[in-house]
Amino acid sequence: MKKHFSLILTIVLLFGCTTVPITGRKQLSIIPNNQILPLSYTSYQDVLKESKLSTDTEKVLMIKKVGSRIQNSVEQFMAKHDMADQLEGYDWEFNLIEDNVLNAWCMPGGKVAFYTGILPVCQDEAGVAVVMGHEVAHAIANHGRERMSQGLIQQMGGMALAIAIQDKPEETQALYYTAYAIGSTYGAILPYSRLHESESDKLGLIFMAMAGYDPTEAPKFWERMAAATGGQEPPEWLSTHPSHSSRIEDLKAYIPKAMKYYQPTAGTIKR
Ligand SMILES: [Zn+2]
Repeated sequence: MKKHFSLILTIVLLFGCTTVPITGRKQLSIIPNNQILPLSYTSYQDVLKESKLSTDTEKVLMIKKVGSRIQNSVEQFMAKHDMADQLEGYDWEFNLIEDNVLNAWCMPGGKVAFYTGILPVCQDEAGVAVVMGHEVAHAIANHGRERMSQGLIQQMGGMALAIAIQDKPEETQALYYTAYAIGSTYGAILPYSRLHESESDKLGLIFMAMAGYDPTEAPKFWERMAAATGGQEPPEWLSTHPSHSSRIEDLKAYIPKAMKYYQPTAGTIKR
């Protein structure tokens, strides 16, 4: 155990940690974004190719509008906190896929997909902003990279890591596909841990508030989600999500903080 710990410590010292915006949590970040982003962009294109994009112009435009407003908030926030370099190489994109699944995700680098199935639960633009803020937060907090880094430590030891990262891009690629489980059907991303979920809930609230959307819409969205999934098994992407009730309580508790960032007119100024 002790040996294992010192190994991890060595790895952390060698390759570093990053700090998650807002929550300040230290996380492992062994694999650099410049290796992850190209993989992300390729698999995003693959998902788009295999999917039927929505032709409902109104809904497509709404997704893109909410997306760019959230993007603006994220860029403002990161610039203000001297973390703009963390967005280096980002190439934001927001697409709506025609599929009845209750899903949405954001890959590293700001590649977002919404599925038409989640729109009735979102109800309106503010509901889309709840989901958009949350999914984008997973990417901004580099949760996938953290999962890849943990995977790397589990699979290899010590200096083998350096070799794997520098000279074996296929190892990074394999980890990427494990972390994101890019499926051919839905491009579904593996469920995140509860820690990652609650972190994204908090960041998402702040991003939506900065984008001009009322954060009190977030618990309402999750109430509708609870009703939509009813007594049935939750969809796969929700399976390790916190229970609806504890998530809703946590969100409500965090709203006063998010309210400090709320700029009700942010969207109208930008557009
Ligand atoms: Zn999530």
